Amino acid sequence: MELYQKTAHELRDLIVKKEVKATEVVASVLQRIKAVEPKVQSYVTVAEETAMKEAETVDSLLAAGNDLPVLAGIPVAVKDVISTAGLRTTCSSKILENYVPVYDAAVITSLKEQQAIIIGKTNMDEFAMGSSTENSGLFITKNPWDLESVPGGSSGGSAAAVCADETILALGTDTGGSIRQPAAYCGVVGLKPTYGRVSRYGQIAYASSLDQIGPITKDVTDCALLMQAIAKYDPQDSTCVDYPVPDYLQTLQQGVKGMRIGIAKEYFTEGISSPVKVAIDDAIRVYKDLGAEVVEISLPYTEYALAVYYIIAPAEASSNLARYDGVRYGYRTAADVADSVELFMKTRKEGFGPEVKRRIMVGTYALSSGYYDAYYLKAQQVRTLIREDFNQAFKSCDLILTPTTPTTAFKIGAKTKDPLEMYLEDIFTITCNLVGIPGISIPAGFADGMPIGLQLMGPAFKEEVLLQAAYSFEQATDYHQRKPSL
Ligand code: GLN
Repeated sequence: MELYQKTAHELRDLIVKKEVKATEVVASVLQRIKAVEPKVQSYVTVAEETAMKEAETVDSLLAAGNDLPVLAGIPVAVKDVISTAGLRTTCSSKILENYVPVYDAAVITSLKEQQAIIIGKTNMDEFAMGSSTENSGLFITKNPWDLESVPGGSSGGSAAAVCADETILALGTDTGGSIRQPAAYCGVVGLKPTYGRVSRYGQIAYASSLDQIGPITKDVTDCALLMQAIAKYDPQDSTCVDYPVPDYLQTLQQGVKGMRIGIAKEYFTEGISSPVKVAIDDAIRVYKDLGAEVVEISLPYTEYALAVYYIIAPAEASSNLARYDGVRYGYRTAADVADSVELFMKTRKEGFGPEVKRRIMVGTYALSSGYYDAYYLKAQQVRTLIREDFNQAFKSCDLILTPTTPTTAFKIGAKTKDPLEMYLEDIFTITCNLVGIPGISIPAGFADGMPIGLQLMGPAFKEEVLLQAAYSFEQATDYHQRKPSL
């Protein structure tokens, strides 16, 4: 087995025992990137030089007898929406194509404290708007299981990189499903934390009341490890919550005996493909065999989640993206302009891709005077009803089990013509973001060689319960061990 094929917890043991050097791990991953990146295209930037330098530092600290943090020497791929000082951060947009941040996001600071290695920045849908990475303004990432299919999105580059062993760990962001859906499509683990659990400081904003950064990993143990490193209070993000962080590894092996798993009929709609339905039914059986109790619950307002999301997310995006005007950040039009308004207009017309423009227009409309009450305010009211649904449900269950997506990964180009069809991709993941609760996707089967994802959602700040239940399932199955042949 090559080093790049290993998990972070396996490498950690080898590094501590001095059987493997951090530089060997990084070299192995870089070699893998060289070999498969022409096919997969998950990276916007590979930080070859700095990664090697950071690994050398780790090796010399180890040689000097220092005890190092858990992630020391472990490569992490970072979605290109997370600011990295001195390392280009594009949001896969032409408007930020040459933008180099002057500061690190809080999660990057945490990773650096851990002496983890930032191996590169991954491709995404432009400004995280999309479900397939086809909206990237730079290039399209491929699904390692089938190079003609999408890897999912918007964190498609991170999920594909983990799946193809082009990194050991990765960070994604999730506004409506962008960690969990690509994790499901690529057959890896993805966790969207509770809103406020992980600092958004330095994460380039898409929809601020929904965005969260989270781990994408090869297995659940790695997910717990990476979560431990990034879950912390940060006064620089006013929505970050000062709430005790549990030891995620400690509870991992406690099993699911007596755990009440809720099944909501609203999440088993007609759009769900039969292999996905079969895989989820199997998963429910696995949990029953492991001693969990399955209870029926109802989440009636889920029906409105998609509509609510596609008012709130574009509304917030339209406001967040107002800052790209050709003056303060990134791209500026080269055209002759008569005044500053024309400068803004031309810059934005040339710099943003079609989906970003669509969202800005929808969002601006929903916020404009006369429409605000009818759309934005109404959407926020229904959001509260959806939250109450979940509060009610969690009185009778500890977590909720659903498919992550209705189908497996689709072919590149299959849904690009109709934005609505693409929006339907998020039907099962979007409620977590609207409600602010955590959700995890784990591998739960295959259909025609393509991975199927299982989603678990839990009450706010109960990531440890999700990880514990996910770990039990992983131990009882072998889906996470299968690898695409590239
Ligand atoms: N697909 C959803 C959207 O396009 C969610 C994206 C995300 O989670 N960043 O908005």
